[in-house]
Amino acid sequence: MSGLTQGEIDRIKDKIRAKHGLDSNHPAMLTEALTAQQCDQCGKIGELRPYGPSGSLICWPCGQLDAQGTEARFFERLDEGRDI
Ligand SMILES: [Zn+2]
Repeated sequence: MSGLTQGEIDRIKDKIRAKHGLDSNHPAMLTEALTAQQCDQCGKIGELRPYGPSGSLICWPCGQLDAQGTEARFFERLDEGRDI
């Protein structure tokens, strides 16, 4: 039900491109969104991403509660060459 909208995915890809100086045609592939798991933070079932504190799996609404922290962890993973 929830999960990332196309607009949110496009926004993330724009950030990846901006950070790495990629041109706008670069695919900036995201790994497939994780499906139907329970959020470590709010307990709701949704598509989760590993951007919670200490790499916990959280849903998009929980990620937005600490957007700055979520974004920092997102870029940490990117810099480490891990799946994002
Ligand atoms: Zn949540």
